[in-house]
Amino acid sequence: MSIQDQFNRPLRDLRISVTDRCNFRCPYCMPAAVFGERYQFLPKPQLLSFEEITRLTRIILRLGAVKLRLTGGEPLLRQDIETLVAMLAALEGVEDLAMTTNAYLLPQKIDALKAAGLKRLTISLDTLDDEIFRQMNGGRAGVAKVLAGIEAAEAAGFTPLKINAVVQRGVNDHTLVALARFFKERGHILRFIEYMDVGNKNGWKLDQVLPSAALVERISAELPLEPAAGNYFGEVAQRYRYADGDGEIGVISSVTQPFCGACTRMRLSPEGDMVTCLFATEGISLRDPLRAGAHDDELEAIIRGIWRARSDRYSELRSSLTPDGRDRRKKVEMYHIGG
Ligand code: SAM
Ligand code: SF4
Ligand code: SF4
Repeated sequence: MSIQDQFNRPLRDLRISVTDRCNFRCPYCMPAAVFGERYQFLPKPQLLSFEEITRLTRIILRLGAVKLRLTGGEPLLRQDIETLVAMLAALEGVEDLAMTTNAYLLPQKIDALKAAGLKRLTISLDTLDDEIFRQMNGGRAGVAKVLAGIEAAEAAGFTPLKINAVVQRGVNDHTLVALARFFKERGHILRFIEYMDVGNKNGWKLDQVLPSAALVERISAELPLEPAAGNYFGEVAQRYRYADGDGEIGVISSVTQPFCGACTRMRLSPEGDMVTCLFATEGISLRDPLRAGAHDDELEAIIRGIWRARSDRYSELRSSLTPDGRDRRKKVEMYHIGG
């Protein structure tokens, strides 16, 4: 049975953040100055177990979700993540099961993930320039490390891959035509994400956002592009096809062209909070009722109630919230609930 929120948006996608930890320190997500040696990540008992995640997912699938994505933090840091993949893959009603990863640990995990039933992979890589890449991940890895992960994913048959690149004006924007050319040649789908003001820790400023329209123009000048139709309702990326018929890119323009009207995504945090918007100020705990002994029907009623009450459309309201486009509310962090 499918449910709808206050703006008649159905629940279609569930993003499951399996850990708040990461082996990178991308300044736009987990700046090293904030997430240092002494930062207190969630202690293990607070994390949902695989059984708890699977139980909640089964209920959320009953409410209409069909697509699952594992994210984080870095999902490959969660011990035995392939076991969770296998548990989720076995659930009735799962049409898609994907993961977003920085790929650092992918070569050693790829076969287990494939065998467990993972269907699709999104790998994050913001630039091919080694120095800039190190700057954009807090000095934790060079480009070669991610390319090794990409090669492992290709060899295991996860093609085409989706590649996420965050676009920061003045940081990596001058390297993105080269990135587009590289992934066009390799047959993967590159998606450019406008730098977003998720959380409160990345010091986001509007002038660091390069509007996707300007980026598309820049790429198109060298590699001609034409708009392509969307794949499905709720797709966040606007698609562009290369005019030579060989490949496509996507742009995710959360800042300059919000898409809240078609947002069908629910998020589950590592400690079991249900979050209905990437820019939410808080989530609602499903772990508390679950660990207090709630039955499936009771949990379903709670989740249904939260979704029915949902009226989030932060990106559409962003510019009206504050004149400089900067929101000073305390928000959930990207590293906590995933992209
Ligand atoms: N660690 C994994 C990774 O980086 O692929 C998964 C989690 S990460 C939070 C998910 C996606 O969010 C990544 O592609 C990352 O680049 C993107 N992201 C993180 N912070 C962002 C920001 N401030 N603006 C736009 N995208 C961001
Ligand atoms: Fe880690 Fe991904 Fe955030 Fe970078 S974007 S710090 S890899 S969670
Ligand atoms: Fe969805 Fe919130 Fe993003 Fe709008 S701002 S698209 S409601 S997650």
